Amino acid sequence: MLLETTNLTKKFGGLTAVDDVNFGIEEGKINAIIGPNGAGKSTFFNLVSGYYPPTSGEVYFKGQDITHLSSNKIAKLGIARTFQTTNLFEKATVLDNVIVGHRLRTSSNLFDAVFRTPRLKREEQKCLNKAYEVLDFVDLTNYAHRVVENLTQEQKKRVAFALALATDPELVFLDEPAAGVNPDETDGLAIMMKKMVDHGITVCLIEHKMQMIMSIAEKIMVLNFGKKIAEGTPDDIMNHEDVIKAYLGG
Ligand code: ADP
Ligand code: MG
Repeated sequence: MLLETTNLTKKFGGLTAVDDVNFGIEEGKINAIIGPNGAGKSTFFNLVSGYYPPTSGEVYFKGQDITHLSSNKIAKLGIARTFQTTNLFEKATVLDNVIVGHRLRTSSNLFDAVFRTPRLKREEQKCLNKAYEVLDFVDLTNYAHRVVENLTQEQKKRVAFALALATDPELVFLDEPAAGVNPDETDGLAIMMKKMVDHGITVCLIEHKMQMIMSIAEKIMVLNFGKKIAEGTPDDIMNHEDVIKAYLGG
């Protein structure tokens, strides 16, 4: 397993948002987490990417215990994520969004910035090259100088993918990439996720719509009220009694 959780639990006061979850993310595959609204999917992402400390349980990445590492340290180890609501600068260009997002994670210090050291200039060039590389990956090279607010929802999601990819991750967590996207445009996002896997990047996405997941995911975990109620291939999941009940509200 590329990433594994053991007995992962998160409580918010009296509410257990993630309840004793053991899940393994398989390397080189599209993994998915599904479940009704409020099931704990985003909270699970927040735990494995270091945004929230768990109440109990552990997270291992390539065998290393990362449970108590900060989100920055986890990002540096090769884990990237997107958020459920895209946090892009709407008034800035696509290219600037990718550069700024990437720069926030690079190592220039104030001295470099004030004195415009050669190191800073090298870093800026590297950043620009990387931005163009990831925009090419998500097929947005021709949109580099467009202002984000003029893009379609699907294109904005691809900008968010580009931001995540700029850190050269081995594993990306995508929180509801298809949410708010026109149904005819979700194919483009599915193709992108497959392309990531083809380039050696393991994908784990959240989706509460069953349909898209069933066509692309290879391993699925179903959460309901914070608990894992099923795990397996799309076929296993579709025929699972508890999953059918959860979705029918029974
Ligand atoms: P999902 O992504 O599956 O829709 P979430 O993980 O966002 O679900 O939420 C799971 C539960 O935890 C919900 O009941 C939600 O209200 C609660 N929750 C999530 N984040 C917080 C928080 N920061 N503080 C308190 N409760 C939270
Ligand atoms: Mg969510």
